[in-house]
Amino acid sequence: MLILGASGDLTKRLLLPGIGSLIVGGDASDLELLDGLRIVGSGRSDKGAEWQDTVHGAFTQVGADGDVAEAVLHATRYEQADPTDADDWKRLLSGVDGDLVVYFALPPSVVVKVAGVLQDLDLPDHTVLALEKPFGDDADSATALNEELVKVVPEERIHRVDHFLGQRAALAMLATRFNNRLLESSWSADDIERVEIVYDEKLGLEGRAGYYDTAGALRDMLQSHLLQVLAVTACEAPAGLDPEHLRDSLAAVLAVTKPWTGAPVFANTDGPSRRARYTAGEVDGEQVPDYSAEPGVDPANGTETLAQIALEVDNARWAGVPFLLRSGKSIGDPANEILVHYRPVRFRPDGQSGDGSAEVLRFGFKPPRIELRFTSGGGDMPFELEPVSISGALPKSPVTEYGEVVRGVLGDDPTLSIRGDVAVQCWRIVQPILDSWQRGDVPLDEYPAGSEGPDAWS
Ligand code: NDP
Repeated sequence: MLILGASGDLTKRLLLPGIGSLIVGGDASDLELLDGLRIVGSGRSDKGAEWQDTVHGAFTQVGADGDVAEAVLHATRYEQADPTDADDWKRLLSGVDGDLVVYFALPPSVVVKVAGVLQDLDLPDHTVLALEKPFGDDADSATALNEELVKVVPEERIHRVDHFLGQRAALAMLATRFNNRLLESSWSADDIERVEIVYDEKLGLEGRAGYYDTAGALRDMLQSHLLQVLAVTACEAPAGLDPEHLRDSLAAVLAVTKPWTGAPVFANTDGPSRRARYTAGEVDGEQVPDYSAEPGVDPANGTETLAQIALEVDNARWAGVPFLLRSGKSIGDPANEILVHYRPVRFRPDGQSGDGSAEVLRFGFKPPRIELRFTSGGGDMPFELEPVSISGALPKSPVTEYGEVVRGVLGDDPTLSIRGDVAVQCWRIVQPILDSWQRGDVPLDEYPAGSEGPDAWS
């Protein structure tokens, strides 16, 4: 596995610990994948002297030790190289004597250049490419990137990584809805009123202004991760769990997803979107500066740190059901969950029909949890109703989301990777909203860091 951009944040913080977690928590077939794995970190900077420590530190962080960890550590090395230089590539490739995974942990602008260089090189027969989001920055650039990549290897050997598909809650959504008659038979607009997919976080900019200030919450979180969660929530049952069928199913539902055109669903606005940016405040006792005063931020970019959009899935199952997606930074008490809101019952013998009490099924991301909130009898008075909930923790996996990514990449299994056409669809879905923001049709609201968002949104 040749990691390009190995000196960066993603490699150290997510990818290497992910490999370590697969060593710790993987089963026998995972250990087979790891057998003989040689990780070569690469980048223009001279990190050779510290590379072993970086890998060791990442493994220690997740408790990876023992023979397999030792073997991987023993075999890893760092090669100083410019990934856009063909001569450097020839040197890198001369050391490869088996299958090759090229992991692009690079800024998106560099990925296209590298794809161009790879087209003219003699790569090992079995070469796999793993790429990080964002895949392009609109539908046209995503299409162009796809065209360049398939000149290097066929589509089934391109892994567009979205680690959200490796999240417990997303995997549990797929498993639970298709394996429980109670849910399976009520999973449509007949019984479900709306779906909310929320991923707020306490984290602010974390020094990533260079990337984030030209992306913002809509591109960074909703266009990629949360649309994938919508897809697993709304897709039709795949004919099987193999890559072809599952990815067909996800692609089919995203192909009919578009901005909400029904009656307004957000307070104080008619449109299908809202956006806001944090001002100075406090999160967990820490002072957070105004977003526009953060180092590297250009306030003129008008970047949002909180985005909320309403989408519709235009098919027989979901017509009329809004899917509300939201993600924000520097949120005080962040929610991260999928909420499936059922419709109230049509008739109640106590005459209170339509008073709003209805079941909510909740899949929590962190901690991973399923909960069903519903109305029960059992109050002090006969026939008194009260809200109750039953919940359970989802089994915790020692394999991190990036461990799942690595499992797919090494195992040549693209089931949980984004297919090229889906990457394009996801841009097509959000483009009308991005355009309306660009035109200034939607105000950029403000919220103090540490709050739950703008007051007017409540
Ligand atoms: P960084 O900005 O840290 O860059 C990674 C490395 O790329 C740098 O250390 C640098 O290494 C190399 N690089 C930078 N510019 C160039 C250039 N012009 N030509 C060649 N190499 C260059 O990125 P991250 O590690 O944060 O992210 C990598 C990818 O992963 C990005 O696509 C990002 O969007 C995605 N991602 C990141 C996440 C994160 O939390 N960090 C989360 C999810 C996705 P050197 O100078 O040694 O060549």
